Amino acid sequence: MFDICIIGGGVAGLMLAHSLPASMSIAILTKEDPFTSNTALAQGGIAASLAPYDSPATHAIDTMLATADHAHHERVEMLVNEGKLLIEKLMSQGLPFDANSLGLPELGQEAAHTQRRILHAGGDQTGKMLMHYLLKQTQEKVTLLPFHAVLKLKMEEGRCTGAIVSDQHGHKQLIKANHVVLATGGIGQLYSQTSNSPIATGDGLSLAYHAGAILEDLEFVQFHPTIFTLNGKSCGLISEAVRGEGAFLVNQDGIRVMKDVHPLMELAPRDIVARVIEWHWQKNDPIYLDARYIHRFEMKFPSIYANCMRHGINPIHDLMPVRPGAHFHMGGVQTNDVGETSIPQLYAIGEVASTGVHGANRLASNSLLEGLVFAERLAKRVEENVIRSGTPFDTELDSSFIQFSSAHMQRRMTEHIGIIRTGDGLSDFIQEFPLHPRILEEYSIDEVQQIHRYTASSLIAHSAFLRTESRGSHYRQDYPAVTEEWTGKIIEQSINGISISTRKIERKETVK
Ligand SMILES: Cc1cc2nc3c(=O)[nH]c(=O)nc-3n(C[C@H](O)[C@H](O)[C@H](O)COP(=O)(O)OP(=O)(O)OC[C@H]3O[C@@H](n4cnc5c(N)ncnc54)[C@H](O)[C@@H]3O)c2cc1C
Repeated sequence: MFDICIIGGGVAGLMLAHSLPASMSIAILTKEDPFTSNTALAQGGIAASLAPYDSPATHAIDTMLATADHAHHERVEMLVNEGKLLIEKLMSQGLPFDANSLGLPELGQEAAHTQRRILHAGGDQTGKMLMHYLLKQTQEKVTLLPFHAVLKLKMEEGRCTGAIVSDQHGHKQLIKANHVVLATGGIGQLYSQTSNSPIATGDGLSLAYHAGAILEDLEFVQFHPTIFTLNGKSCGLISEAVRGEGAFLVNQDGIRVMKDVHPLMELAPRDIVARVIEWHWQKNDPIYLDARYIHRFEMKFPSIYANCMRHGINPIHDLMPVRPGAHFHMGGVQTNDVGETSIPQLYAIGEVASTGVHGANRLASNSLLEGLVFAERLAKRVEENVIRSGTPFDTELDSSFIQFSSAHMQRRMTEHIGIIRTGDGLSDFIQEFPLHPRILEEYSIDEVQQIHRYTASSLIAHSAFLRTESRGSHYRQDYPAVTEEWTGKIIEQSINGISISTRKIERKETVK
């Protein structure tokens, strides 16, 4: 029995463990080895308004502008205000961010940020460095259980009391805890083109759904414009920071494709850049990133450089072929401002959570920050040890095991729930993959992994079908405009069905 069981060892799970008192018994479970996560892949950095010319208020405005009038304004303010203080605290505790010759943090620029405010560590190895730091800080107080995949959450009288897990040999056990935290990351691997780590199969969404929790904003999936793509295969991400340093997007004739599309050109919001690139590819006009003029590319972006070289492309002399892929999930398990879900003793932080700070489109480099800030907020809440009582809930609905091919489902997701969506495509997908809300304990680890993947995909499709407008990352070809009718509307899903609620929206021009 643990005080707290944290499912996931990326930035969110590790920061939570770091912020909790050593007197607590803490378990961290990871599906594979601890460094197989989206955090370990994060290149660009962490946004924080540290420069004298910058402020949290400006950071909030940039965030709200990117989110297509769909963000939770108060939570955005929490993110940027507390985020700045937290980064300063972590730096003073020894988190090694890259510094200039004066010892001040070197601040980079990324898409839709109006100021240079992106902190890096180890050049483009920010996520890995952050993980090394947090693992070191927490090693004495945490029981780390790698290769322990959670199959199902244990529910008793409407409260979450543990997790049923399987190790890599298929041995199952129940891990009991007073508090259970989903920090399971994203969903990119539901698509055939993605920047995400192999663990990002939407398990947290499925676990929460089967336990009876409310999920929201699932239709908002961000596609990163520049996934390094060779022979139709995703071969890693080329961070926005490369465009921030001056790289531009060209077609095979060398024409800059963003020039007449948006005033920020290559640094326009991600959904716009991604749609332009995809549109060219669909017309058999491949798009390339030209970074040949960036001074000391290999020093500034050592991981990207090494990855390209491994694949036979030298960014100093060659153009890099790029195509969009699934990158970040704005929606997720609905939480309040301290990470509590609709189920007592079950919490969600990091990418699996929907805190509302990313709205319909995330501002680059705000997600590591969100993981840190909301993990720290949850730690304070858990320390208060407030345990709410639950309402008994029966999730045992009838269904049979679903047989399907993951590769087929990924292709269908990419085709119908991808960058460009239509009502017909979404409806076809939902008919082919209706929701099956049951996980039986006798299922094998592979079968449960399939159910997680299936459930997460189907949930996203249902929300995308219902939202008959285009907003942020959600683009419906049959409803191409943002509508007033959908402004502030949140699509919620749970095992009880689908419903619409309202979020108070603060328009960008009113942000102080
Ligand atoms: C290539 C890439 C580059 C990025 N660059 C940036 C950037 O520069 N700046 C930025 O802010 N954001 C960036 N992001 C986004 C950011 O990295 C992620 O949103 C963030 O790291 C998510 O952290 P997390 O802790 O929520 O999840 P993750 O770091 O993905 O960790 C998830 C954890 O959950 C575990 N898990 C999952 N399912 C189960 C299960 N069933 N049982 C047990 N354990 C499970 C995994 O093993 C893993 O330990 C990038 C993302 C990618 C993919």
